[in-house]
Amino acid sequence: MASTESTESAGAHRDSGRGRHALVVGAGLAGCLLATYLARDGWKVRLCERRADPRAAGAAGGRSINLAISARGLKALRRAGLEEKVLDSGVRMPGRMIHPVAGEAFFTPYSADPTRAINSVSRGGLNRLLLEAAEAEANVEVRFERRASHVDFDGGVVEFETPEGAERHQADLVVATDGAYSAIRAEMQRTERFDYEQSYLGHGYKELVIPPVAAGSGPHAPFAMDPAALHIWPRGGSMMIALPNQDGSFTCTLFWPWEGPGSFAEISTPAAAAEHFRRVYPDAVPLMPTLEADFERNPVGSMVTVRCRPWTRGGRTALLGDAAHAIVPFYGQGANASFEDCEALLEALRAHREIPDALAAYERERIDNANAIADLALRNFIEMRDLAGRRSFRIRKAIEHLLTRLFPNSFEPLYDRVSFGTKPYVEALETAQRHDRGFRIAAFASTAAAIAIVVAGLVLAARLGGGGGSTSGDVAAAATTNTGAIAP
Ligand SMILES: Cc1cc2nc3c(=O)[nH]c(=O)nc-3n(C[C@H](O)[C@H](O)[C@H](O)COP(=O)(O)OP(=O)(O)OC[C@H]3O[C@@H](n4cnc5c(N)ncnc54)[C@H](O)[C@@H]3O)c2cc1C
Repeated sequence: MASTESTESAGAHRDSGRGRHALVVGAGLAGCLLATYLARDGWKVRLCERRADPRAAGAAGGRSINLAISARGLKALRRAGLEEKVLDSGVRMPGRMIHPVAGEAFFTPYSADPTRAINSVSRGGLNRLLLEAAEAEANVEVRFERRASHVDFDGGVVEFETPEGAERHQADLVVATDGAYSAIRAEMQRTERFDYEQSYLGHGYKELVIPPVAAGSGPHAPFAMDPAALHIWPRGGSMMIALPNQDGSFTCTLFWPWEGPGSFAEISTPAAAAEHFRRVYPDAVPLMPTLEADFERNPVGSMVTVRCRPWTRGGRTALLGDAAHAIVPFYGQGANASFEDCEALLEALRAHREIPDALAAYERERIDNANAIADLALRNFIEMRDLAGRRSFRIRKAIEHLLTRLFPNSFEPLYDRVSFGTKPYVEALETAQRHDRGFRIAAFASTAAAIAIVVAGLVLAARLGGGGGSTSGDVAAAATTNTGAIAP
């Protein structure tokens, strides 16, 4: 057995990973960042990944997803000294550009503060950057083509399938960062009193591309559209978005229902897609010369929300990132939240002498927050695909930005809290619920006030028309009984 087991006691104290061994399963975004953190705290880290090295020629590339990285992710990257590198590789997006079916696209800033922006970053590029950072640590050993298949939670032993046969690794701390379809979580499901809930979205997603344009062929060349925005084509039950890349291209993502009208099942051929695009996304069509080929070639992915509890087993194994809380991508927070998990686990390990205590503290801090951002992400899908195109949405955003300017110390819109703040997601969700109540009351009050004004106007007109002289009782009677007669 290849062992990473420590001969030292599992006792922990601040900054005392030295001599202890951690096994991180899954070299995705969270696994690589966590490995870097732990190594710098003195842990000996083995990072095992199912896939081949993504930097090797011929390695399966995965999807060409772009991520919006915002304050929470940047804070966690800063801790590893990687914030600047990530920002340098991305494109700033200070707002949304909404594309209606007909008419001009319009821009809505994400924040009243014009310096605030989210950042479009390639997921593959970010993963490579994080992998290189982890590998640069002397006490991180990365092993590819290791698929975790079984766990002994009490012993801290994980079995892997490899091209050379089975392999087992043991460690003081085992962290499962093996993504939304985590094998380690699946093993936890077989243990007692493990709560698990998974729900697939009725929509799938497909990646498309808007390529760069030639120099001089538009105000934003080499970009075909303004790169300083996340572009959204909200269409009620579905939508398309586009995020800019530094090379002048945009990565587009279609979010369509799996079944029914306007679904991937209904629009299944490249020709049908092109015809649909001409009707539904007319301004995008001239920018997408490879639409039909991309539509045919690229697969449709599913989106799942996973909630589970507990996140730890046997006192030394923990779930982290998508393995613990897969969420739908509509708040752009999956990776950001996973990076926050890494910080929370590191802090818990520093604060607690015993690993089981640290894992319990980590779980306590993160689990409700993960559920909160899962709820917010589902809610934001409705906002993006439906509400964002409506006038009422623009009015609400304008009011929110006005309130922010008027009451900078007491009012902060939900979007700012989630994407530009780092306070717990639970607090952001509570604020969202409070704001919703406030806006509903304001909408009700303004409707009531508008009705009152109309009624008063009608009554006044009736009085003037009828010679006046009525008492307030007459006014009320006029309001209730003479409305039809007064109407033009
Ligand atoms: C369409 C889409 C858009 C998104 N947009 C955003 C966004 O804008 N902003 C944002 O913050 N997040 C976004 N996300 C979410 C983000 O991609 C994830 O939250 C993030 O990748 C989670 O990181 P992770 O390390 O937990 O999992 P992953 O990045 O999925 O990494 C898991 C790793 O584990 C490996 N693995 C799997 N099984 C095993 C096994 N049995 N043994 C060993 N290794 C294994 C995998 O190969 C992979 O390398 C988006 C996701 C999607 C699908």
